[in-house]
Amino acid sequence: MKFTKKQIDRYSRQIILKKIGVVGQKKLLKSNVLIVGAGGLGSPIAIYLAALGIGKIGIIDKDSVEISNLSRQIIFSTNDLKKNKSSVAINKLRKINPDIKLHSFNKRLTKKNINQIAKNFDLIVDGSDNFRTRFLINDYCLKNRKILVSGAISKFDGQVYTFNFSKKKSPCLRCFIPKMPSNPDVDNCEYEGVLGSLAGIIGTIQANEIVKEILEIGDTLCGYILIIDALKLTFRKVKLNKRSDCFCNEKK
Ligand SMILES: [Zn+2]
Repeated sequence: MKFTKKQIDRYSRQIILKKIGVVGQKKLLKSNVLIVGAGGLGSPIAIYLAALGIGKIGIIDKDSVEISNLSRQIIFSTNDLKKNKSSVAINKLRKINPDIKLHSFNKRLTKKNINQIAKNFDLIVDGSDNFRTRFLINDYCLKNRKILVSGAISKFDGQVYTFNFSKKKSPCLRCFIPKMPSNPDVDNCEYEGVLGSLAGIIGTIQANEIVKEILEIGDTLCGYILIIDALKLTFRKVKLNKRSDCFCNEKK
């Protein structure tokens, strides 16, 4: 793969970084990421990953844009109301960066379709809003040894988890939350509310984690949970140990 003059210009501020360089930028352009959910987290995740040059991005979301989404789902505009989220998001990304491959999946991720949809992606970012989907993605990534960066937001609080299942030591979501909560399909933001800008903070950290996992630079969050309180502005990195009786130990 040889860079065009346009590509060198577009990515010049990253290429100039010693830890990225031409080699790292090529690695990003050869990588592929599936974003689950084009919502509050999915918006900043998608915008940054497309802009910084992830070569192939897929977005899956079945919902349509509603007016209550616009306070935090910054990839959408008022004139996108009622349109399908994944297709609108992909069209926006195409304008941001025509240099990359984009795929839209206008469906809900289920046990039945996850293999087919996710098989062509090595990294998955979870920006979903319910526990059923979070557990489904966790179990799929664990089984297929993929990298998963998951995020959650509610009110003024947010969390980020990175699980690199290609590494044997990585804990999983079930090490932290052993049993699926009793209301796995509930979107907490709908009932409890959420501050719009918090979605930006958490989603941007998720995008940042994806880049570090691809380039193998810095210290990713793998083995920790990041807990953010946006009101007190505290960032706590808490060690997450692999639970000996967890599902992730049985599988390996
Ligand atoms: Zn586990």
